Amino acid sequence: MVNLLQFDRSALGDWCEQRGEKPFRATQLFRWIHQRGEADFTVMSDLAKSFRDMLVAEAVVKALPIASEQVASDGTIKWLFNVGAGDAVETVFIPETGRGTLCVSSQAGCAVNCRFCATGHQGFSRNLTTAEILGQLWHAEFAMRKRLGVPDGERIISNVVMMGMGEPLQNYDALLPALKTMLDDHGYGLSRRRVTVSTSGVVPMIDRLRDDCPVALAVSLHAPDDALRDELVPLNRKYPIAELLASARRYLERAPRDFITIEYCMLDGVNDSPAQAEALRALLQGDGSAATPGLPCKVNLIPFNPFAASGLRRSPTDRVAAFAAVLHDAAIVTTVRKTRGDDIAAACGQLAGEIQDRTRVAERRERTAAVPMAAPVSRRRGAQTVPEPCA
Ligand code: SAH
Ligand code: SF4
Repeated sequence: MVNLLQFDRSALGDWCEQRGEKPFRATQLFRWIHQRGEADFTVMSDLAKSFRDMLVAEAVVKALPIASEQVASDGTIKWLFNVGAGDAVETVFIPETGRGTLCVSSQAGCAVNCRFCATGHQGFSRNLTTAEILGQLWHAEFAMRKRLGVPDGERIISNVVMMGMGEPLQNYDALLPALKTMLDDHGYGLSRRRVTVSTSGVVPMIDRLRDDCPVALAVSLHAPDDALRDELVPLNRKYPIAELLASARRYLERAPRDFITIEYCMLDGVNDSPAQAEALRALLQGDGSAATPGLPCKVNLIPFNPFAASGLRRSPTDRVAAFAAVLHDAAIVTTVRKTRGDDIAAACGQLAGEIQDRTRVAERRERTAAVPMAAPVSRRRGAQTVPEPCA
């Protein structure tokens, strides 16, 4: 049995054609699934009986099993979906006036292992399939429509951010059909501006996304220089800041907006000093030279959401404000992200689900911690030290 949530419209068309059906039949079927949330082929009244019989025999529209659902005091909802073999991933719905944002996971765990991220701390199990990525949106949209009695044609989720568990650009092949379905007018019909891929900086895949499906892009920078970023985001050793910003500039040629979002997680005494704010300003604004061209961007400062074992602290509010002021004063649009759903551990970076750590990150971290001399301190000095990554 094939799960039809696995297909974008073009792949569904191919699948139907192989079974002797015309492409427009696939579009009708696609609309039943993604516009009406229907999983029962027998009620798809405008499809021929023979087509419906074939679907019943060969296909399913299979939702992800829900392990739990929690609602925060601010209305944020977090689902834990069981994806099998001991892995579970989290999805968060954030209601706001005039819009509803769904934060979607792309992997069970994450192999990038950023120092400040609960998902990274857990290690990596596997990539999600397209059906598992899209299944999060399918469930959230239609379960909430049903619960709230929202009529067909009115949607609840207006924005999707690929900011849940995982590095979406390390699961590109599954991500792409999911994005295409989100944008498809016969699917969820979201505009490219309202679908955001957030990445820790997988440079070659930023270029592919630009060519294949240029939705809004957010780059998780977190440091103004390579020495610090190497420690916070280990992927930086492979794709350093200059290469990352160059790919972001190339992305802008096709991006739905004329800026890239820069995410910067505020860590007390690590990346939040006035000097680092100034370094970030210089990096992003550039000096017009070929060596330092800058990047048209908006900066989103994210107060660090602590989790046990990170050993890091959130920057105090006045330090965040002072950091933001340096960027504001240089006319760089800067916002401080409002923390949502932290009473149910649904805020940025708190998503952990349940992961079978096949990369054994946690084990390696414990081994390193058990041998203090083998755990070198940061190359940075004084108050701005962070531990070396264990990976
Ligand atoms: N892997 C992608 C998307 C998922 S993380 C990425 O790294 O961009 C989504 C955002 O949450 C990223 O900007 C990430 O840096 C941020 N984040 C991770 N851990 C965090 C934490 N503990 N507190 C605040 N933000 C965090
Ligand atoms: Fe992975 Fe993003 Fe977390 Fe880094 S911040 S470990 S890339 S999910």
